[in-house]
Amino acid sequence: MYPLLLVRYGELSLKGRNRRVFEDLLTANIRVAIADVPHGQITKTFGRIYLETAGNWEELAARLQRVFGIVSISPVLRRGLDLEAIKEGARLVVEDTPGQTFKVETRRTNKDFPLTSPELSRTLGGHLLASFPHLQVDVHQPDFVVNVEVRSEGAFIYSKVIPCLGGLPAGSSGKGLLLLSGGIDSPVAGFLSMKRGVDVEGVHFHSYPFTSQQSKEKVIELARLLVPYNARGRFRLWLAYFTEIQKALHKGSYPSLSVTLMRRFMLRIAAKLAEREGALALITGDSLGQVASQTMESIHTINAVTSMPVFRPLIGLDKQEIVEVARRIGTFETSILPYEDCCTVFVPKNPATRPTIEQAERAEAELDVDGLIAEALEKTELIELRAGQML
Ligand code: ATP
Ligand code: MG
Repeated sequence: MYPLLLVRYGELSLKGRNRRVFEDLLTANIRVAIADVPHGQITKTFGRIYLETAGNWEELAARLQRVFGIVSISPVLRRGLDLEAIKEGARLVVEDTPGQTFKVETRRTNKDFPLTSPELSRTLGGHLLASFPHLQVDVHQPDFVVNVEVRSEGAFIYSKVIPCLGGLPAGSSGKGLLLLSGGIDSPVAGFLSMKRGVDVEGVHFHSYPFTSQQSKEKVIELARLLVPYNARGRFRLWLAYFTEIQKALHKGSYPSLSVTLMRRFMLRIAAKLAEREGALALITGDSLGQVASQTMESIHTINAVTSMPVFRPLIGLDKQEIVEVARRIGTFETSILPYEDCCTVFVPKNPATRPTIEQAERAEAELDVDGLIAEALEKTELIELRAGQML
């Protein structure tokens, strides 16, 4: 019934002269999100985007609900500039909206239309009251609002407002590299970074054959689940070879430091990859105090290997809050599949909870740090995942 979707975006308007760039990126992300769904034109006017549906507004709306930068969407009816046609449209909208109390709000940008905004609101309100005996007017806290916009192209009528993700268009902030494990947390950290405009790429450290092919596939699946939220509907995933590093750490004389050292290697490799690929920040799923490697001392010692900013979007979240987001974005079920990632295979019995930089450096003096990093980078492969080209 609705030939149009009205797409509202919020924070973009705060961005001054970048606004054009942001709008273009949002439109590009929208185009990718609906590429395989029938639809008509996309038009930008008055700080909004209108999308012509093909009688499939629900399907299109579901796609748009995963595009960052969109605050809300409304399915909209279009009528000619004729009072009877507008009344009929308003009746249809009311029939399609639950609730007992309502008000009419009119915006008239087309001053040729014979009724003023208040006059049209009053006329339509009276007509709707007469047509629907169950309805009452409540101008303060109505169950729903019948919105009417009178423009030169016609009258636009709607009541539903579907909340969306908000945030900034993915890709508007720059590129970041997510350390993506197979766990619950890091996909959520990736999602929240995309929400603030980061174009996210991922790096996963695998220790094949000590870790299974399935654990690698699980991570690829997690990356695939993040595709719809990311810039231009794609996600580049680097699979970094971590086996030799794990073996070297396992043989080393500091078992309680192995997790700290492992993380230091991960950050060093990720920082090199990020530099090479033009990413300006690393992203991890650390949350403060969750495990031994996420105490403030551990984070301090791990972080000391790079001067690149490391974003930790989950730092202040409890596990339950992280799980809620994971469920909402659809990564949870995959994250809890049993396949181990590299850290559980080699994890020590008593990891240090307060490792110092000096201790870590002493332990690393036994190792060929540069050689191990160079080998890991050399054996890193790239998988590129795209919307509409899913495995
Ligand atoms: P997650 O659920 O994301 O695995 P976690 O609570 O299990 O997090 P850790 O296993 O200590 O925590 O990992 C902390 C962070 O280190 C992860 O969120 C992720 O960003 C990074 N990380 C851990 N293991 C890997 C890996 N094999 N490849 C890439 N990044 C990893
Ligand atoms: Mg983990």
